[in-house]
Amino acid sequence: MNRAGRAAVNASDSSRREAFEEDLSSKVKNVLASLLVATIACLAAPPLAAADASHAPSKKSASSSSLSPVDTLVTAAHVLTMDATDRVFSPGAVAIRNGAIVAVGPPSSLSSLYSPKQRISRPHSVVMPGLINTHTHAAMDLLRGIADDLPLMDWLKKFIFPAEARNVSPAFVKAGTLLACAEMVRGGTTTFADMYYYESDVASAVDQCGMRGVLGETWLDFPVPDHKDLAESIAVTRAFLEKWRNHPRIIAAVAPHAPYTNSKESLQAAKALADEFHAPLLIHLSETRDEQRQLAEKYGTTPTSWLESIGFLGPNVLAAHCVWCNADDLRILSERHVGLAHNPESNMKLGDGVAPVVAARRVGIAVGLGTDGAASNNDLDMWESMDFAGKLAKVSSGDPTVLPAKDLVRMATIEGARAMKLDDRIGSLEMGKRADLVAVDLVRAGTQPVWDLYSTLVYVVKESDVSLTMVEGRVLWDGRRVTSLDEAKVIRDAGAWRAKVAASLAAPAAPK
Ligand SMILES: [Zn+2]
Repeated sequence: MNRAGRAAVNASDSSRREAFEEDLSSKVKNVLASLLVATIACLAAPPLAAADASHAPSKKSASSSSLSPVDTLVTAAHVLTMDATDRVFSPGAVAIRNGAIVAVGPPSSLSSLYSPKQRISRPHSVVMPGLINTHTHAAMDLLRGIADDLPLMDWLKKFIFPAEARNVSPAFVKAGTLLACAEMVRGGTTTFADMYYYESDVASAVDQCGMRGVLGETWLDFPVPDHKDLAESIAVTRAFLEKWRNHPRIIAAVAPHAPYTNSKESLQAAKALADEFHAPLLIHLSETRDEQRQLAEKYGTTPTSWLESIGFLGPNVLAAHCVWCNADDLRILSERHVGLAHNPESNMKLGDGVAPVVAARRVGIAVGLGTDGAASNNDLDMWESMDFAGKLAKVSSGDPTVLPAKDLVRMATIEGARAMKLDDRIGSLEMGKRADLVAVDLVRAGTQPVWDLYSTLVYVVKESDVSLTMVEGRVLWDGRRVTSLDEAKVIRDAGAWRAKVAASLAAPAAPK
């Protein structure tokens, strides 16, 4: 979305808020006034005390006949909206109808307006927007740990590409993606951007799990498992784009791998196809110093300015890494409204370097966070991504003030949504947006006391603190089980694939 688009979204957000305010009767406004006092009192109280207050019955609840029906009312000690003014309700509630957020506010005021079929209470938790992983290769969960501690090119050419060439099939992709989905919903990720092969099978797995995905069929200039040349790449991807068009949670995309692995011809064909379907274009960009050298030798310029020169860049492009982008490259990406997916852990583990994300955000680029595939991270943990992104920026700049905690939570939620041009649907808890949210428990000794919610979320919280993951109002993780999948079977299948991949590579059958 361009700036005008974003302005339109902001305008529609404010009109939604105005509509919500008009919706309140004067009687309810009186209730809100009394609750404001209670909310302020709760803000000053410790989190657990605030949580208890959220369950006090409203003294002025409206009669049940005047209540508007909703599917679910989620209440929590805190609701972090990540909206334009960073509103936090302590305690807070979210009302959900038909997969969309109807209202966000103090629990008692929402209880006086809405009659829910289902109540979800998280009295010791923070409820916040679901995390958005802007770059991964979900099916590569099956290759987690296959080879570590190698430079990118050795890692790819000696291990990943051979393992993929001998094993990647629709069944491999389905099993790997289901494993990744189970991992992600347990950790509070609700949306992810994916680049892989047999992406229609990835989409089937994502659909089965109930997550939201921007799923890109990967093109390379050498044969890949599901297409052998450019004509086949176009045909397979066109069928994929047509099949998943208009799905409520799945956005089919085109994903040329990178400027060093795709020719001008294939990149321009990918762009034309994406433009025809109004689909996103996902690509790796300036990941390594070696890529910079190769492009300089071949085209006499940087990967970014070469992509610009062939007309590839535009608002539908989501570029992963951008580690070696210079100031000129960042200016181009900003002018073209390209989103950036920052993958601090993968960049660190592969020794790629430090992406200039502080400079990128300064020139107006929307920077989301990602994990990259589990083979280069080696997990899909977005809490670690926030933590590492902050610390990497601080240690590399020598400045502890860069990327403060609130900015990191923003990058994992609303800014990630902006990078993917989905901020009109997800990324914050606001009336009219889709009900993608998570609850994070603050009950462990290690999470108490809480002085600043953003600091706790970035520097303290672990994946295992997530006790609720919801997409489109549907609970996918309730703190005990992944509700949409048979997780035990998913894990058994992953073990079977571990054995098959090992046999294909003549690797040890058991872990070292
Ligand atoms: Zn990647």
